[in-house]
Amino acid sequence: MSVLSKPYMHDEAAAFAHVESIIWPGGPVCPHCGNCGKFYKLKGVRSKPSKKNPKGVERHGLKKCAECRKQFTVRIGTIFEESHIPLHKWLQAIHLMVSSKKGISSHQLHRVLEITHKSAWFMSHRIREAMRSDDAVNFGNGGGVVEVDKTFIGTKQKKAKGAKGHSGFLFHQRARSKGPLSTGEKT
Ligand SMILES: [Zn+2]
Repeated sequence: MSVLSKPYMHDEAAAFAHVESIIWPGGPVCPHCGNCGKFYKLKGVRSKPSKKNPKGVERHGLKKCAECRKQFTVRIGTIFEESHIPLHKWLQAIHLMVSSKKGISSHQLHRVLEITHKSAWFMSHRIREAMRSDDAVNFGNGGGVVEVDKTFIGTKQKKAKGAKGHSGFLFHQRARSKGPLSTGEKT
């Protein structure tokens, strides 16, 4: 089976399962309070109806923390946060960007993924920022898995007028076996 035919490249639920297995190898972790014990899977929850989706869209991977009672998905704290683009399209975009030697333009991404150019630009910008090796990234003790930190990747630019979402890029990084947090702002 080719990478392109993997279910997580096409199916939203599979995409969430795939990303969760990478970000939460030891099971879900609440991004609000750090609880990694009990949580509830919220199934069948839909987003607010919109013109494009009068019935709303299913909110895959939605969980509720039993400790702080807040809801979260694996998108929080990643480059996928605050994005309405389906996760499987993000995975397609990442694959296209890392697999082609010379990269891929946002115009090409827009045509291949059949998303707006604005969305394609946004995605490619975030993916590039995430791939950039930067001193701002804190790695865990001993190099292995990374600590839970809030790290700004890229510059803290001022938001353009009317722009939505974050002005920087946040990554939560988690070490499961390395003990307490090292540096950075606790979330
Ligand atoms: Zn919590």
